[in-house]
Amino acid sequence: MVLTASAVPAILVLGLLVRLRPVVAGREVRFQRFLLAGPLVIAASALIAAGLDLEPDLGPDLVPPGTGSLVFTLGAGLAGALVYHGVILWMQARTGTVASTENLITAGAGLILMAIGNLVTGRILDTPSGLGFWQLQGNLLVFGTTVIAFGSAVWITPLSGLLRDRRMWLSLLALTGFLVPAAAGLLMAGQQSPALRLVWLLAATILTLAPLAPVSTEPGPAVPLSQSSIFGALLVIFAGIVTLAVQVVLHNGADRPVLVLVLAGVLLAGHRMIGVVGQLTQLGQTRREALTDELTGVANRRSLLAAVETVVTERRPAALMIIDLDRFKEVNDKYGHIAGDAVLRHVSAAFGRELPAHALLARLGGDEFAVLVEDLSLVTAVGLARRLVSAMGPLEDEGRVLEVGASIGVAVLDGGTRAGSDLLRRADVAMYQAKTSGTGVHAYDRAFDAAAQQRRALTEDLQEALLERDSGQIVVFFQPQVDVHTGLVAGAEALVRWKHPRLGLLTPDRFLQLVEDNGLMGTLTLRVMELVAIHSAQWRAAGHDLRVSLNLSATCLTDPRLLPTIDEVLLGGGIQPQDLLLEVTETSLMTNPDEALATMRAITARGVGLSIDDYGTGYSSLSYMNVLPASELKIDRSFTARLGHDPRTAAIVAGTAELAHRLGMRLVAEGTEDEDALRRVRELGCDISQGYLHSRPLPPENFRQWLADHNSAQKISAATELSDSTGLSDSTELNDSTELSASSSG
Ligand code: C2E
Ligand code: MG
Ligand code: MG
Repeated sequence: MVLTASAVPAILVLGLLVRLRPVVAGREVRFQRFLLAGPLVIAASALIAAGLDLEPDLGPDLVPPGTGSLVFTLGAGLAGALVYHGVILWMQARTGTVASTENLITAGAGLILMAIGNLVTGRILDTPSGLGFWQLQGNLLVFGTTVIAFGSAVWITPLSGLLRDRRMWLSLLALTGFLVPAAAGLLMAGQQSPALRLVWLLAATILTLAPLAPVSTEPGPAVPLSQSSIFGALLVIFAGIVTLAVQVVLHNGADRPVLVLVLAGVLLAGHRMIGVVGQLTQLGQTRREALTDELTGVANRRSLLAAVETVVTERRPAALMIIDLDRFKEVNDKYGHIAGDAVLRHVSAAFGRELPAHALLARLGGDEFAVLVEDLSLVTAVGLARRLVSAMGPLEDEGRVLEVGASIGVAVLDGGTRAGSDLLRRADVAMYQAKTSGTGVHAYDRAFDAAAQQRRALTEDLQEALLERDSGQIVVFFQPQVDVHTGLVAGAEALVRWKHPRLGLLTPDRFLQLVEDNGLMGTLTLRVMELVAIHSAQWRAAGHDLRVSLNLSATCLTDPRLLPTIDEVLLGGGIQPQDLLLEVTETSLMTNPDEALATMRAITARGVGLSIDDYGTGYSSLSYMNVLPASELKIDRSFTARLGHDPRTAAIVAGTAELAHRLGMRLVAEGTEDEDALRRVRELGCDISQGYLHSRPLPPENFRQWLADHNSAQKISAATELSDSTGLSDSTELNDSTELSASSSG
């Protein structure tokens, strides 16, 4: 009867075990296998125990009384261990933690529990147990493993996000079911009554059925294992000590089994704790190394970034300085890296002495440092930065004096600082301003930042405009040049324009410096040359043979792509060498005179003309006039503008005209804005006039129209002059059409 009552559920369990296989899948297979092994072992041991208890005929020699109980006890203990392991694997599967299971601590805890059990049953309750010593230990073992399996399941449930997983709740119910008979077994003198075994089997059945419950799939959080390990180990050690203390007080001395169990438990837990502490120390060391700068010993970039992020997130008032050394590269280049390193160490030590104790000094890399100081106003921070600059002082190294300066940008946290990167960027902008202005220290300036950002955005646009050929944003306008004596068109100057998609039409003063700064001048010149070739071919087709001037910057004269491009353009046939004129300024000749001169000679050797632009504003040197292969001088428009009221300027222009003609060059007057100016430049000996009087720079299609209009106006004018002399009609204003074109060029 008892056998059936015990065996049936056990067989049921076995049957279910087989049927459960498809329910459990993937990474869950491992832990479910252990969770199911528990009930299986209990069922099996219950079966064996029931068999042994019912066969007393086998005789006491073969099966001593109580063997069934012992088998079941061992089975239950093993089942507890299997379930515990399954629970830990469950947690690992949920949290993705692969750290070692804390088996040593758990074993230690089991031993301490057994010690407590010994103490409680034997000494405190003074249980009149009919249990032998080993039977008691067996029952305590079952109780201990069951408590641990239950405790582990309770512990991991919230940690692994299993609170909503019904399987876990069923498992916990089953484990509570195990706890009751385990405790009862202890209290009831170890008698594993059939009723108690039935409770075991019922609980085992629930545990077996648990995986069938619906599954929640949300992932659990990661468990900080090292922390919980130390806590667990400490708890075990503490419980051991308390047990021992209680034992000593109650018994007036140590009971050997309790002492042995406590010692073994504490040893196991202690051993594991030493291991964890060692790991943590190692980790701390690695972290420290990862947070300091090797060369100077101050914090490194990573640690500064973390600190900045913290103050910004917690909105703590703080000032950040970015420090960039001046002339450090010179020291490095001149005296070598060892001297450079010495300077960096010297400087960071000097900063360290000057900074308050709570400041964080970091080396960001190269010769860049940063300082983060909490509770510092902008004014105080700027003052501190100034002190840092003066604290640096020179370094005497192997008889040499190594001296560097520093540019420091200062920014403080305000309402607009949302992320650490905001604060860093502001301090960086301020540092850049300190560097470019040479002021040493500069506080963050919003207006400067906005301008710098605009410049950056414009640079990006420029790159797109220049590098994407199809963008059509780079265009050329043409401004006519007129012969002062005949009024006929003598040529045109090509002037670059940028059709910016948002900002509209931009003149060179808005973007040429940007082009130069970004090393794009070569590319721009190529583009302009190609456009000039295309348009010039179109005029020729329309019957206008014109000379076209285009501007070269200083960098163009040393750009190896210049001559090949000129050759390519000439080869394209759009323009003849004698129709092409390249304008250079006196200043551009100064940067690299020999190379510039060689390039100019190579240009003229191709039959292409050279013009000295803005003549009189740069570093004019008469000795150059002797060697320059130029065919044209363009006096700057500032001279033309002063002609009306300044006799000295008039004298200079007249003298220049004389000089140019004697050297076989044309003289062009730029900036002719009215008839008066035109009359004067004519009188002073200029050959060609260029200016708003004739026309503003025009887009190619308007320029072609202007050419046509101008030519017909010339014909009319010539006819009028003829008829004037014969008294036939009034003269026609030459510049009517000019005004029209000028307004259309907008
Ligand atoms: P630049 O070569 O001296 O060109 C003459 C400048 O004077 C042009 O300005 C023109 O619009 C302006 N101008 C002409 N007549 C008058 C006048 O009567 N009154 C006044 N107030 N101004 C007049 P723009 O087009 O703004 O060009 C400025 C400068 O940009 C040019 O000075 C030239 O140095 C440079 N530049 C223009 N295009 C290019 C280019 O394709 N490449 C390079 N490297 N520089 C260029
Ligand atoms: Mg020019
Ligand atoms: Mg000019």
